[in-house]
Amino acid sequence: MEKLDIVLYPEAGLREVCAPIAEMNDSLDKLIDDMLYTMYDAPGIGLAAPQVAVQQRLIVMDVSEKGNEPIVLMNPEVVQSAGKITWEEGCLSMPGIYATIKRPSDILVRGMDRDGKQIEFEASELLAVCIQHEIDHLDGKMFIDHLSGLKRTRALQQFRKLMEQKE
Ligand code: ZN
Repeated sequence: MEKLDIVLYPEAGLREVCAPIAEMNDSLDKLIDDMLYTMYDAPGIGLAAPQVAVQQRLIVMDVSEKGNEPIVLMNPEVVQSAGKITWEEGCLSMPGIYATIKRPSDILVRGMDRDGKQIEFEASELLAVCIQHEIDHLDGKMFIDHLSGLKRTRALQQFRKLMEQKE
């Protein structure tokens, strides 16, 4: 397994709409392993393919306490949603920035798993938040886009400052 470079905001690739995946193949299988490895190493609970510079509709997640329940989804879609939840979200492409975001709390998700099988399942709370955050990435959307104008500007300023300190 290989550790991949995580693309940081405001890299243009994070703003692109990613292409659907037609079918499973060996290179995708390797990419999934590398993405999971990169996500656990970061450490993070979710990673979308555009965050490793691959513009395809693939996300990996693990919201379990022990970090031993990986979830892999291709062409993920939220087909139903209900309720509301606010969660303090962060993103591996904007390290150091956290923002409270409101999203639906219960979702029905559809997609393709690692075996190339179509699956559908319900998710709530943290998993629902995580899936929606990662699907946003596939549509070129960042979590801070859910903030109001002023809060979003502040988060961007804060991130710029953090990046300058790193240089
Ligand atoms: Zn993210």
